[in-house]
Amino acid sequence: MTDKIVKSDAEWKAQLTDEQYQVARKKGTERPFTGEYCDDHQPGTYACVCCGQELFSSNDKFDSGSGWPSFTAPVGKDNVATETDGSHFMERTEVLCSKCEAHLGHVFPDGPRPTGLRYCINSASLTKKPADK
Ligand code: FE
Repeated sequence: MTDKIVKSDAEWKAQLTDEQYQVARKKGTERPFTGEYCDDHQPGTYACVCCGQELFSSNDKFDSGSGWPSFTAPVGKDNVATETDGSHFMERTEVLCSKCEAHLGHVFPDGPRPTGLRYCINSASLTKKPADK
């Protein structure tokens, strides 16, 4: 079991940039093609910007053309949580960090093999740890 991290809005606000706070804590969405990791192709691991839990690997990253970093799978199925999101007149599946409940993005069933899933994730919710040289 992972230990949950719970902080107040004020604590998150103090630790994050305005954009990171709006996306990760207030379920915002960064504008497409603007995020730091959209076009990133260097090997490494993408961790939660809020709590540091590892979430996605560059090995599972692919170019979806959507304007957001896209992955076929998380690094472990317990590292993310999902919830049904009925906002914006659509039914989508929201993806969250399982440890601190940061909003990461959404997952769609139109991804490439091997999973057929597309985790469409905001750069603002991620921080990258480069692969060890
Ligand atoms: Fe987190």
